[in-house]
Amino acid sequence: MRAMVLNSERSPLDSESRAVPRPGPGQVLIKVNACGVCRTDLHLVDGELPQARLPVIPGHEIIGHIEDVGPDVADFRTGERIGVPWLGHACGVCKYCLAGQENLCDAPQFTGCTIDGGYAEYVIADSRFCFRMPPGYSDLELAPWLCAGLIGYRALRKAGDAKRIGIYGFGAAAHIVVQVCRFEQRDVFAFTRPEDGQAQAFAVGLGAAWAGGSDTPAPCELDAAILFAPVGALVPKALRDVAKGGTVVCAGIHMSDIPQFPYDLLWGERHVCSVANLTRRDGTEFIALAQRAAIRTTVVPYPLTAANEALAALREGRLSGAAVLSMQG
Ligand SMILES: [Zn+2]
Ligand SMILES: [Zn+2]
Repeated sequence: MRAMVLNSERSPLDSESRAVPRPGPGQVLIKVNACGVCRTDLHLVDGELPQARLPVIPGHEIIGHIEDVGPDVADFRTGERIGVPWLGHACGVCKYCLAGQENLCDAPQFTGCTIDGGYAEYVIADSRFCFRMPPGYSDLELAPWLCAGLIGYRALRKAGDAKRIGIYGFGAAAHIVVQVCRFEQRDVFAFTRPEDGQAQAFAVGLGAAWAGGSDTPAPCELDAAILFAPVGALVPKALRDVAKGGTVVCAGIHMSDIPQFPYDLLWGERHVCSVANLTRRDGTEFIALAQRAAIRTTVVPYPLTAANEALAALREGRLSGAAVLSMQG
């Protein structure tokens, strides 16, 4: 099978020919149809994820069909469409797993990071951590649901019942969250790279109440802020924008250092928190909600062997929506 492999940090992925893997107990072999390209993949390539195990095939927004099932797979059959997310495995016995916080598991596996992911024609996955995907959507448009959608959903839930929500960084996750917010009758204020008129128009087109550069103050007091941009300097900026009692949610897996800021910005019972990984419950809740809210993703397809070009476009902020690798030519 063809696979795009990260062999060493800070170097391009290599196109390699690999043997098709065989599913073990509890695993399924999936013929990959589409795999989303996530900002986390950039952090992986840049050597910013200490948990990574190289060489690795990146990709954790996988849509495909089950080609074969290993022993002890009860929940899926050959031929079914399936989705594989970032959380590839959780131990089930650590204190976090037992408390319903498998996103914080002490011994997790992460798809496309500690185990091989979907930048390939085939992938192996633990079926208990996969999702059945709804009909009526193409493989390409479903792929971003599996991380941009799930992490965006988890971040939005951390924001509580905030009515006016600032979103900082308007990429794949934000373009889904803004649709969920509109469905839940919340107002989104989208902050993009300064002067990025294209991203601002994209945000307003999807239902944002306002869009502007991240260097401008919010036009009104916000109840919460979600940071998708991996820019630590946005934390004090977002704290300035939120009202008393408001939460600033950092949704990325990696962020540049947060600069020192006066305690006054945190005072008034403002909160800063992060979002780490996902639980299977997030997945089932989001997939149900996305259908109710009629979420539509905007995707920019690339062939599998153009994965490096897709990553470059993401890095340079040239995408409106989500880059997705298509294995269907
Ligand atoms: Zn665990
Ligand atoms: Zn991701």
